[in-house]
Amino acid sequence: MIREIKRHIRTVEDFPKPGISFKDITPLLDDGPALHQAIDALSSVVEHLHYDRVVCAEARGFVFGTALAYSMKKGLILARKPNKLPGRTISAEYDLEYGTDALEAHLDSIPPGTRVLVADDLLATGGTARAMCQLVENAGGVVAGAAFMIELGYLEGRKLLEPYEVVSLINYK
Ligand code: AMP
Repeated sequence: MIREIKRHIRTVEDFPKPGISFKDITPLLDDGPALHQAIDALSSVVEHLHYDRVVCAEARGFVFGTALAYSMKKGLILARKPNKLPGRTISAEYDLEYGTDALEAHLDSIPPGTRVLVADDLLATGGTARAMCQLVENAGGVVAGAAFMIELGYLEGRKLLEPYEVVSLINYK
């Protein structure tokens, strides 16, 4: 099954810049049965975790985070780029190759003690997921773990997410 899902992920070398091996998920999104299978498989690897809500970051994270929350009947927290959310927000910065960026979430989406699963399409360096963990913790929530459709194991992003439990469906080692 994992092999079937992997078949729908296209590797594009040197995109968006030289040296990057880009994992393109759009062929998976194009195929209804494969997409369904992928969400079911992702749901089964998070089944043992205990959480109330899923947090995911725009843009590709929204796709899998929303599907996962729907499938597991959990709430959904949107982590957005700065100044997109109208209510009171909490924010966390993360490093980019050059400079920094930030993610924001509505403070009232994470009441103290809420258990939150961090979800994204892909784990690379771990910076984006760690920012989501910080958002949750800064608001007084609890990180229940982190789930990814794809993990680029060779970048060792899961080290940045210690001590949280990290699960992924497809690991490119
Ligand atoms: P990072 O913060 O380095 O873990 O990067 C994770 C985010 O960047 C994910 O939301 C991905 O959508 C995107 N990303 C980073 N590297 C890649 C890659 N090689 N292929 C596809 N997407 C990537």
